[in-house]
Amino acid sequence: MARLIILGILIVTFILLVRAFFPAALKKEGRADTTEMVKDLNCETYVPRAEALHRSIKGKDYYFCGEKCAEEFEQKVA
Ligand SMILES: [Zn+2]
Repeated sequence: MARLIILGILIVTFILLVRAFFPAALKKEGRADTTEMVKDLNCETYVPRAEALHRSIKGKDYYFCGEKCAEEFEQKVA
């Protein structure tokens, strides 16, 4: 009988641990979104979306590593 009680405690502990870990897993997914890489079409490098410079050129969305690349690309497209 004592074994069943210990087993019950272990199961409850396991469920609590899983619940404690699930929000952490969701946060990790959220973090993955902010570190999503976008391509700078001017210098062909990948920049994290959060750090990239966003420009809308002729209705299209572009991301750049910096102001200089954005200006260069705009001139290329124009
Ligand atoms: Zn660049």
